[in-house]
Amino acid sequence: MIAAAISLALTLVCILAVPPLLSRATWTVHRPKLALSMWFATFFTGCALVLNALFALILPSLDTANMSTVTESLILTGAAWGALAIVGGAIAIVAQIDEPLQRAQDRERIALARTALELEERRGFTLARIASDSPFACAVPGRGAQIMYSTALEALLSPAELQAVVAHEYAHLRGSHPRLMRIASVSARLLPNWLPAGREFKRATALLIELIADDTAGKQAGAANLANALVKMGNATGDASLEARAMRLTLRIWPMGRKRHLPDPIRLQQ
Ligand SMILES: [Zn+2]
Repeated sequence: MIAAAISLALTLVCILAVPPLLSRATWTVHRPKLALSMWFATFFTGCALVLNALFALILPSLDTANMSTVTESLILTGAAWGALAIVGGAIAIVAQIDEPLQRAQDRERIALARTALELEERRGFTLARIASDSPFACAVPGRGAQIMYSTALEALLSPAELQAVVAHEYAHLRGSHPRLMRIASVSARLLPNWLPAGREFKRATALLIELIADDTAGKQAGAANLANALVKMGNATGDASLEARAMRLTLRIWPMGRKRHLPDPIRLQQ
């Protein structure tokens, strides 16, 4: 019982104390990789502590010979299996919510791929040029991973800026960012609404993966190219966060042009 109580107390620290500290910290914008690692370390530590608490409750309940009374045995057994049932139920609910969402995203992806003017097989993904009036680029993970960019984006940006945007999307794929985002979304659904930890984890993950991809693309394709692309995309779409990200890129020192190394699979001029 003591081990379970300690584990649950530490779980509360992971849920109640750490997320507000990380959310308020300003350094996270400058060290997004470290910040994201800390968020996920907190999340997985919390999960491990919950499991540890469950095992600490269940194991003694199986050893009924050591129970001082039948009532104590029944209470511990009921509490342990009840907790397991709650965890199982929560996972089932999330899976039910998540599956239609995933199917809808797959349909959207197939519909977009049908409007592709060009599909080019690259190492690890397909580069798709999509006919669209909306300036966008996105990375689609999975077995048939794709990086898509629209004709409107191509018209809006210079070739160097478009290259930087493709590098940003490639960083999402290489960093398994969609999977991390999915974990954060599921955890936000699992936690009750009155607990801000889940929402904060999801919001922080969404922001930090963008900043990490910006930093990688800045090093590979030039921070000025990416910053200019973000400003143009922000003006075209009215998304103020893109300009804020562009501003952030101007606050760092970046490698000189000759020290940049653009990965071969994402080179637009091959
Ligand atoms: Zn992005």
